[in-house]
Amino acid sequence: MTNRPFSAKAREGYLQELQQEEFDLLIIGGGITGAGVARDAVLRGLKVALVEMNDFASATSSGSSKLIHGGIRYLGNYEFKLVSEAIHERELLKKLYAPFVRDLDFVFPTYKKKEPSRWKLNLGLHLYDAFSKFRAKHKNLNVTETRKHYRLLKKNNLTGSCVYTDSFSEDYRLVIELLKAAHRHGALCLSRLKVIGLNASKNQRCTTQVQDLISGKTFYIKSKTIMNCTGPFSDSLRQMLQLKKRLKLTQGVHFVIPQEKLLIDSAYVLTDNEQDRIVFVIPWNSTTYVGTTDTTVESVEEARARPEDLSYLLQFVNRYFETQMVPSDVIQSWVGVRPLIQPENAVSNSKISREHEIIEEPANVFHLLGGKITSHRLMAKEALDLLKLRFSLKACLTDSLPLQENPWIKKPLTHFDKSFGHDQEKMETTKTHPLTKSLPHTMEEVRFCIHHEMALQPLDYFRRRSSLYFEDPSSELFEKVLQIFAEELAWEETQKSQERKKFIDALDWDQAAFLKERAAS
Ligand code: FAD
Repeated sequence: MTNRPFSAKAREGYLQELQQEEFDLLIIGGGITGAGVARDAVLRGLKVALVEMNDFASATSSGSSKLIHGGIRYLGNYEFKLVSEAIHERELLKKLYAPFVRDLDFVFPTYKKKEPSRWKLNLGLHLYDAFSKFRAKHKNLNVTETRKHYRLLKKNNLTGSCVYTDSFSEDYRLVIELLKAAHRHGALCLSRLKVIGLNASKNQRCTTQVQDLISGKTFYIKSKTIMNCTGPFSDSLRQMLQLKKRLKLTQGVHFVIPQEKLLIDSAYVLTDNEQDRIVFVIPWNSTTYVGTTDTTVESVEEARARPEDLSYLLQFVNRYFETQMVPSDVIQSWVGVRPLIQPENAVSNSKISREHEIIEEPANVFHLLGGKITSHRLMAKEALDLLKLRFSLKACLTDSLPLQENPWIKKPLTHFDKSFGHDQEKMETTKTHPLTKSLPHTMEEVRFCIHHEMALQPLDYFRRRSSLYFEDPSSELFEKVLQIFAEELAWEETQKSQERKKFIDALDWDQAAFLKERAAS
């Protein structure tokens, strides 16, 4: 283990190291796949570097539905292996990733003349329970019980419900914790470094050209092997190596509403029989979010929450709940792009398998395609097992070693526990100064993310170290966070103005769809 800080202030020094050393493995992409590989690889004794072109977790790994789940929907596609593997992972992560993976109850209401009927759902959930060796057991409620416990549901044609337990996890938080763990064990993980050229060779001498998006400088990284963990960008990297495309991209949109507009303490699963898909409604801190959609896009850059996505999801909520939600109730949105493996035959987007695939092409370059947040540990293990013939690797530890390695004391979870686990002990002061009156986030937390979580910009903290961007994206709050960054990183006025612009641009992008709707309504 090393004592080197995972700090924005230490970035320059790490950049020197990255250019001088030769690595066993260079990981491209700092989403959940890359972060999972980095931790596993360094624990097995490899010398590891990871480069991410934006902030860590800035792409799909902060745009998911935030569930660590078996995927009840995949039972309908008869993907039993996928579901059983995912449930095994869910159980493991609940144990090893505490407190970042937490149980959440899901209410699945059933209706007359609508699929699935209550008996079919009950049968499917028996199988779901069996995959967890009945550690989780669902409940089958009749219509009276459902009405009594879940009063917000509309009563028309309701026949009952099933309630089962899966898990919730802030996707970006998992990525950051995995990277912190990898860093503690000696991996060099840096953001705002974009791979712009790749050169692989059979004799384990790969050179990767990288551009530092902060200074604009370019340099080369030497490594024996490379793993392409760039999720929906994987084909761009493959094209640098003249390889053919393998992915089909689909976008999924989520909308966020304040908790008081739909006050729920369990998640809900709602079915869209016409499109043969399901929509989740999930409670999250001071909000509730609704998602998702599944529409084909040609590139990540094209992905965007559109007005029709908003209408579709709002209609859904209003159809099932005693609410009359309108576009102006929406406070925020996010969009994620699924890196799905292109199927050989034409099928609807929701039927495309969420399985993963690892290909070595050409020698010493591995492409980790597809997958889910839930299966990241397994995917990393499978990828590293492929290196056994090249390096003398230690045994894989990720199925037994807790993510935060100090023993976890069982007590009711505070905001700090949920956000940072044991790391709150590293906070410099016991006195805390709230950022706002209504939310539990503090000024010390922002400083902590700069010094211990490689947050380089206010948006990194707002969006990928905390949930603030989705709860209170106000300019007053942004100014307070900006001031802390400016103090810590000695920023001048010009830098502050640039950061303000980035924040406004990000908000414009995420809120564009519903702002247009709002103007029209
Ligand atoms: P990403 O998170 O996209 O990471 C790839 C990284 O590579 C990016 O950060 C990018 O900036 C970087 N990169 C790209 N090009 C370069 C370059 N040239 N140089 C350097 N860096 C580069 N899974 C679940 O288990 N549960 C769910 O509830 C769930 N819900 C989902 C809902 C939606 C709407 C979507 C889209 C997906 C969902 N998934 C879910 C799937 C899951 O989110 C993805 O499989 C996972 O996040 C992919 O992670 P990744 O690390 O492979 O890709």
